[in-house]
Amino acid sequence: MNAGAGQTTLMRGTIITMCDDLPFLHDGMIVIEDGKIVHVGPADPERAVGEVIDCSELIVLPGFINTHTHTHSPLLRGVADDQTLMDWLTKSMWPAEKHITATHARNGALLSCLELIESGVTTYADQYYFSEEVAQAAVESGQRALVAPTVFSRPTPESDDPIGVARRFIERHLGDDSRIEPCIGPHAIYSCSTETLQAVRDIALEYDVLVHIHLSETQQENDDCMRQHGVSPTRYLEQIGLLDARVLAAHCVHISEDDRQILARHNVKVSHNPISNFKLVSGWFDYPAFRRHGLDVSVALDGVQSNNSFNLLADLKTGILVQKTLHNDPTLLDAYEALKLITIDAARCLFREHELGSLEVGKCADLTFLDLSRAAMHPLHRNSFRQVVSAVVYAANGADVSDVMVQGEFIYRHRRHVRLDRSTVIANAAESSRQILEHIDFFSR
Ligand SMILES: [Zn+2]
Repeated sequence: MNAGAGQTTLMRGTIITMCDDLPFLHDGMIVIEDGKIVHVGPADPERAVGEVIDCSELIVLPGFINTHTHTHSPLLRGVADDQTLMDWLTKSMWPAEKHITATHARNGALLSCLELIESGVTTYADQYYFSEEVAQAAVESGQRALVAPTVFSRPTPESDDPIGVARRFIERHLGDDSRIEPCIGPHAIYSCSTETLQAVRDIALEYDVLVHIHLSETQQENDDCMRQHGVSPTRYLEQIGLLDARVLAAHCVHISEDDRQILARHNVKVSHNPISNFKLVSGWFDYPAFRRHGLDVSVALDGVQSNNSFNLLADLKTGILVQKTLHNDPTLLDAYEALKLITIDAARCLFREHELGSLEVGKCADLTFLDLSRAAMHPLHRNSFRQVVSAVVYAANGADVSDVMVQGEFIYRHRRHVRLDRSTVIANAAESSRQILEHIDFFSR
């Protein structure tokens, strides 16, 4: 083949494709052209085109996908630990968030981008205010983002008209060919009225955008809904028509069998956020019960306020080990099935499996590379699919990510950011955080 512009060949990598037809190549190659994967197969120098990159010391994976987060959130890292969800929201997060400006949100989002890239995330689904700034941060970083302006019934720090803000954001970004997909993010049933949720539904159906909502995160949410509406939060959303749209539901901790049938009937996608749920002691997610109903499930990070760090591999490991313990069954899911929860199954949860989540011809060239520099990655017998997948899921963590590619472009190379100036991003976020925390007297506590 002739070398050409926009062509890259990844040669001699240990490749986990997450494609069930050909899940593993221990000495493989991937050819990329104009941001898309055009060939995956055994290493063959005859087929190399463009820049040829030696990957013989790397594990090559689909870029990790984080299906639920709030990227402004590092500004509030370590500000409110060890509280209940409702205290955490009403006494700490919401009072602090009142003082967040567009510039703060942008600086926080850029810090998230650094951290997400450094731990191998190529695509994330965000829900927050100041969506334009959040989107711009993603564009600068080179990552893909599904950006959902958060909608409350009350005014937000950004506007008295969150629905209007969301509509305008969607209209600005719908159909553009950037890495941003506009969505809409009603915060939760307890922060949005029926009228607000129905307005969200109407917008989601009008523009065919994803609805990204927190659902049944706590028992209190369920109890209040039962008292107010006489049904569970899931049934309430069905009754008011929200589930007619494409919905991504975060948490789903307190979900009954009846609820799961409703979610399955409407093809609702589920984002499980283990560390956030454990830290706020929200309850137990029941993974196999969702799978029995054929529901698509992913593992995600939530925000830094309730997770403290972005390290998707670490959260995946914790999440699946807890499931095995809960169900007293070490065979509940193997490492390969687990890895799907942050790759191909996560792509399904975002309705993007046709282009993301696995390394297949025709899909976007979004890749995460792990190197073998840490002792924890050895010994590694690279012709053993089982051992390589085990190394990724049980031994590796974000610190093993050496390179990240989105749309065929390296945005992180040899552990250095290509697009973002790391020290400037960190300094700006620190200053924004200081300004917000001064408003809530954090430093005098
Ligand atoms: Zn959340």
